[in-house]
Amino acid sequence: MQNKQHFRPTKAIIDLQAIKQNICHLKEHLKPNVQIVAVVKANAYGHGDVEVARAAIEAGASMLAVATPEEALHIRKHFPTTDVLILGYSPSSFAEVAANENIILTVYSKDWVQQVCTQSNSSKPLKLHIKIDTGMGRIGVTSIETLMDLYNEINKSSNLVVDGIFTHFATADEEDDSYFNKQVTMFQQFIATLPKKPRIVHAANTATMLIKDPQLQFDAVRFGISMYGLAPSAYVKTKLPFPLQSAFSLETELIEVKQVEAGQSIGYGATFTATESSYIGTLPIGYADGLIRKFSGQHVLIDGKRVPIVGRICMDQCMILLPIAYNIGEKVTLIGKQKDEEITMDEWASKVDTINYEIPCIITSRVPRVYYTKQ
Ligand SMILES: *Cc1c(COP(=O)(O)O)cnc(C)c1O
Repeated sequence: MQNKQHFRPTKAIIDLQAIKQNICHLKEHLKPNVQIVAVVKANAYGHGDVEVARAAIEAGASMLAVATPEEALHIRKHFPTTDVLILGYSPSSFAEVAANENIILTVYSKDWVQQVCTQSNSSKPLKLHIKIDTGMGRIGVTSIETLMDLYNEINKSSNLVVDGIFTHFATADEEDDSYFNKQVTMFQQFIATLPKKPRIVHAANTATMLIKDPQLQFDAVRFGISMYGLAPSAYVKTKLPFPLQSAFSLETELIEVKQVEAGQSIGYGATFTATESSYIGTLPIGYADGLIRKFSGQHVLIDGKRVPIVGRICMDQCMILLPIAYNIGEKVTLIGKQKDEEITMDEWASKVDTINYEIPCIITSRVPRVYYTKQ
């Protein structure tokens, strides 16, 4: 790995071996010839798109999925031959670049196809995956008539190829099956309508694969959150078919330790006041790093012990309450393990009333991602 030199001790440490391990476990549950699409949108859920994509390919993923044209181009620069699919919206003006770069686009509108035909001057084929909206209400065609209209429009142009068809589930991480089953039935009806099966039919996200309907693999599965070692929901976490290894740790070091007396306050607004003589440690991480002010009170690990963040979190720093006067430079783990203690992404998510997906995404780019691969 080419880890750059970083001076500030705050870093996210990404365990690429954990990512590979999670993919290898998933692979054992796949039928022969089912492709793994590694979902590396949003900078690989904040883990680093190129490094994660490389690890995923080494572990057996054969396709990469992103959300935007910019993400696709970034991936394409580093992976000249791997299939790359943009799951979300691409403007028709991007079609020419997509064809030249062999990037697969998601399509769901006949107007968009017509615009592409008038705008794109590429002589290369443009691969398209038709998106079916079976119940997410987000993007995708919602009726068989629209599907056939779109399909015929695409086939009018010799440069456009229906390479795939897919849908996305709204409730795959929940216990109740009824909405999910409705979506599956609808998707199967849509596929059956096509005169010719495209190369890749895909529907399953992580939760579908792990618990909801592990047999619903079609030609490819889209593996996102659990590739990073996180469960898609608390419900899925209780049903996991294999253990997940989380890949993301967040670490820093003590940069200052001071003793304060009872009555002395800490931070903006003086919202924390020591009730007895205490040690306060300062950490070089703040809300500009993604440690938003709502995390005040959250525990961090030092010397294998849990201690709380006290007072308001500043833009670049925050303060913690220490049991003893640790040395400057003592390692502090905000997410991850120390000795027998662990602070998980799930704990962070629940602290700020959200889902674990959101946490690595909100750790800003000021926090360098540092990679290691355990041998
Ligand atoms: C983000 C995304 C995924 C990945 O979902 P996970 O729950 O992380 O597996 C799959 N498909 C689509 C269309 C997505 O947008």
